Formats: sequence, C-alpha cells, structure tokens
Amino acid sequence: MNTNVASPRFPIRFDPVAGESFDGWIDAYAQRLLISGRELGRALGLPPRLLRLHGANVAKGDAELDAERIAARACGTDPAAVRALWFGLARYDRLIAQRVARADARRRAVTWFGRVLRPMVSSRWCPICLAQSSGRWLAAWRLPWYLACPTHQTMLASGCPACGGTQRYAGLRVEYVPDLLTSCSRPTAGQAGPCDHRCRQDLTIIATAAAPDALLALQAEMIAILDPTVSETEALASSIGSLTCTSSPSTPGSIYTPSTATGETSTALSAPRSPRRILRSVTRTACGCARSPTATRY
Ligand SMILES: [Zn+2]
Ligand SMILES: [Zn+2]
Repeated sequence: MNTNVASPRFPIRFDPVAGESFDGWIDAYAQRLLISGRELGRALGLPPRLLRLHGANVAKGDAELDAERIAARACGTDPAAVRALWFGLARYDRLIAQRVARADARRRAVTWFGRVLRPMVSSRWCPICLAQSSGRWLAAWRLPWYLACPTHQTMLASGCPACGGTQRYAGLRVEYVPDLLTSCSRPTAGQAGPCDHRCRQDLTIIATAAAPDALLALQAEMIAILDPTVSETEALASSIGSLTCTSSPSTPGSIYTPSTATGETSTALSAPRSPRRILRSVTRTACGCARSPTATRY
C-alpha cells in the first residue's frame, strides 16, 4: 500500500472505540492495514515530531493535530470520535501540571505528588477487555489512579506474566510487526539476529483479582475528566480538584498495600477516605511516572 501521497485513500475504515487511546487506535488501525504505525501516522497527517515520541506522548496528542483532516483521511471517520482519542488525556495532564505549578515549589512532596499523577509512560490493561476488543487499548489505562476495570470489576494487569515487562511504553513502530495488539511486545533478553525476538506472551489470559467496590466508585467519579462532553469546570469540581489541591499532603493511608508478586496494588480497602488520600497511597505503590523521553525503537 502506498501511503506516501498527499491524500491517501485507505481501503478500510477503522472507527475508534469508546475510550480508546490515540496511540492504541493508530496501532490497531495500522495492524489492520498491514502497515507500520509511523507509516499510518504520516499518511494521516500527524506532526513528524509526534511520530517519534513515546506512546504516552502520542496518547496525549499535540496542539497541531487536526481531527477533521485525520478523520477525512481515515475514510470519513467521525471527527469528534477522533478528537476524543487524545482530548481527555491531554486535558487531564494539563490540569494536573497547572495545579501543581501553582503549588509552593519548595514543597518537594507536592512536586512529587504532581509527578506521579501524570499519565504513565506504560499502560495497564484489562485482559478481558483486551480479548473482547481484539486489542484496543484505552486511554484510561494510562492514568496512575485507574487500577480496575469497571466493566469486569477486576483489577487491571500491569506487567507481563512471562517477562514482567510493562506495555506500550515505546512509540509508534517504524516497521510493520504482526500480531502484537494482544501479546507482549517486549524484546527477549539475550537474543540477536533477524528473527522476531519478542516475548509474545498472550496478555489476555492473565487472571486478575476482583476489584473493591470503593475503588470502582472512586474511579467512576474521577474518570469524567476524560469525557470531552464534561466541561473543565465540572472536571475540576470533581475529585480531580481535591486531589490536586495545593495544601501539604496528608499522611498516607493504608488502603492499598504492595503485592509481593507483581508490585501492583492489592485490594485491601478499609474505611472511606478522601480521594487525595486514597490516590496518594495508590500512586506510591503503583507508580509509572510521567517522564517524556523520545521514543525508543524496538
Ligand atoms: Zn475489562
Ligand atoms: Zn513479556
């Protein structure tokens, strides 16, 4: 397929699913077209610098992104659905950065807390959702406090059971690699040569623990931040606002405790606590902080 033309015509329309991440959509679309993510990104008119960034930064989009143009090039996909791919995560990241910036910079704890609240470099996932969608990765899975699937009421997975590797930290692929939407894409250690050398563990067959009701309820309240139909004022009035208030952090609660097996959080919820206090505990144990290096190829 020749995608090096000014107005490419794709043979297949590939609509985003609700809540999908921008990098996830490009990856899934590219897999469907049997081309690489970067090839598709160029054909859709994405800014060249965005194509070279880590997946987390692709997921947050770019101010130069033109949803109308991307939608038109993607066989007439709904522009609102295209914009929604990055809008929520970008807004969340901006609001967190703004509120932390207003805090007293001398308060190292506040700075730390703001950093761990940024979207994660890697992505968690719900194995059942991933199986049922055939590999559509959601934007919410990059939120550090989003730990459970509301649909299946189970905790999300965070690492490959075979190699322990996190997922979706790299940028859009330079070359087409088949069948990586639902399997581990981490390189296999110690391997060399022209073969694939990826872990390829099936990420959809992982058993995860049941999620506590209190966590699901908290997430349901806070996830409105990703909804483009929710105003910024409403988003800030939600738990996100109290989460990022600039007073000194309270003493960490004991709602979550680290799992010895995976480093992920356990589900030992106790009495209700403030969102900020809950999530401070969560991010202490389930951190995937938001540094923004350029993408590595793999
Ligand atoms: Zn699920
Ligand atoms: Zn693996």
